[in-house]
Amino acid sequence: MIVIGDEPHTPYDRPPLSKQFLAGDWDEPRLALPGATGDELGVDWHLGRTAKSLEASTRTLTLDDETSLVPDGIVVATGARARALPGTDAMTGVHALRTLDDARALAHDLDGTPERVVIVGAGFIGAEVAATCRARGLSVTLIDPLAAPMARVLGATIGGVFADMHRDEGVDVRMGVGAPSGSKDRACESTTAWCVMPPPTRPPASLPLVMWRGGPTRCSMTN
Ligand SMILES: Cc1cc2nc3c(=O)[nH]c(=O)nc-3n(C[C@H](O)[C@H](O)[C@H](O)COP(=O)(O)OP(=O)(O)OC[C@H]3O[C@@H](n4cnc5c(N)ncnc54)[C@H](O)[C@@H]3O)c2cc1C
Repeated sequence: MIVIGDEPHTPYDRPPLSKQFLAGDWDEPRLALPGATGDELGVDWHLGRTAKSLEASTRTLTLDDETSLVPDGIVVATGARARALPGTDAMTGVHALRTLDDARALAHDLDGTPERVVIVGAGFIGAEVAATCRARGLSVTLIDPLAAPMARVLGATIGGVFADMHRDEGVDVRMGVGAPSGSKDRACESTTAWCVMPPPTRPPASLPLVMWRGGPTRCSMTN
C-alpha cells in the first residue's frame, strides 16, 4: 500500500486543531494517530508529495516529483480544502484553519494577544474557534451571512440557541452580516465582509480569522 499526502506530517487528528490544540491544552505529539506510521501497516509513505495527475485509462498516477505509479487500485481521498479569501494572500494575520500548519500559525498569532479576532463563517469550525478564543480571554466577533450559527445544518432555531450561548460568553455575534441580496456567488463573496462591511458595522479587526471551506469552484458556506 502506498499513501501519498501533500502535507509533510505523518497522519494526525484534525478535530482538536480548533479546540484542544488551539486552546494550548494539547501539544502536537498528542494529535498523532496511534499506529498510523508503524511498520505493521506496511505502508510506503510519500509525504510532502502532491498527486499531480491521473491517467485513468492506464491507472498512472504522477506525483509532483515526476514519480509515476501504476497501482492495481486507487482511492482518491483528497478531502476538503480551505478556500483562500481573495486578495488576502500577502496579508499577515489572516488565517484559514484546515491543517496542522494553519493551526500552528493561528495559535502563534493568538499568543500575541490580538486586540480583536474576527471570525468569518459561523459554521462548526468558526463557532469552535470563537469559543476557544474567548476561553483564551480574547475579544471575538463572529460574522456570517446566514441567520444563525451552523444554521444550514442545525436550522435557524437551534442555531439561534448557539448564537445566544456565544453571546452569553461574550462573543460579538453578528448574523446576516455581509450578505447582500443576490446570487449565491455574491453571498459567497460577501463572507469577505470583515474587510468590505460598511463602516458602521465594521468590527475593529486586528486579527481577521477566515474560516472558509469549499472546493476550488464552490464555496460550501453558501450552498
Ligand atoms: C479545524 C477542524 C476541526 C474539525 N473538527 C471536527 C469535529 O469535531 N468532528 C468531526 O466529525 N469532524 C471535524 N472536522 C472535520 C474532519 O477533520 C474531516 O471530516 C476529516 O478530516 C475528513 O477526512 P478526509 O480524509 O476525508 O480529508 P482530509 O482530512 O482533508 O484529508 C485529505 C488529505 O489529502 C491531501 N491532499 C489533497 N489533495 C492532494 C493531492 N493532490 N495530493 C496529495 N495529497 C492531497 C490534503 O492535504 C489532506 O491532507 C474538523 C476539521 C477541521 C479542519
